[in-house]
Amino acid sequence: MKVPDRVLVVGGVAAGMSAASQIRRRHPKTRVTVFERGDYISYGACGLPYNIEDPEREIEDLVVLTAEHAREKRGIDLRLRHEAKELDADSGTLTVVDLDSGTETHESFDALVIAPVRAPYACRWMVSTCPESRCCAISPMAPRSRTL
Ligand SMILES: Cc1cc2nc3c(=O)[nH]c(=O)nc-3n(C[C@H](O)[C@H](O)[C@H](O)COP(=O)(O)OP(=O)(O)OC[C@H]3O[C@@H](n4cnc5c(N)ncnc54)[C@H](O)[C@@H]3O)c2cc1C
Repeated sequence: MKVPDRVLVVGGVAAGMSAASQIRRRHPKTRVTVFERGDYISYGACGLPYNIEDPEREIEDLVVLTAEHAREKRGIDLRLRHEAKELDADSGTLTVVDLDSGTETHESFDALVIAPVRAPYACRWMVSTCPESRCCAISPMAPRSRTL
């Protein structure tokens, strides 16, 4: 398979950041952009009950990898508070909205990684329209997954 010039990753937690980091390690020339609609990346949701139990506990305690580290040390173009909204699989374009400014951009890609754990359900529109040749959904519940 040809090494992709640009990979887009939707979702910046365990699966998304692992994929993004791995792609950057294997293909240092590939531009990798992660879109995460929330405020944090790479957090251990497993620890959330402890934060609920102890309101004094910082939410940052759950974070494994900070946004700064991902950008500066791993060379990942990370966009927090950006939500993937629409996919044009034929042209290889993902429409993304900046949740703060409301600005919509059309991001082109050679390969797309869909990485929320509930991808087959929460992101059904992405999973069902993106051809297998350039898209992978990584989730224990995904209908298909493959290695880039
Ligand atoms: C309370 C709790 C306890 C848990 N305990 C354990 C445990 O003990 N052991 C264990 O193995 N697992 C546990 N889990 C599960 C574990 O947290 C998940 O398996 C893991 O978070 C999955 O990571 P993920 O990257 O696949 O997806 P997610 O964590 O679902 O991350 C996906 C990200 O994608 C983002 N996203 C979704 N749609 C879009 C979009 N359209 N555009 C941009 N961004 C989008 C979401 O904002 C989210 O941040 C627990 C989960 C919870 C909630």
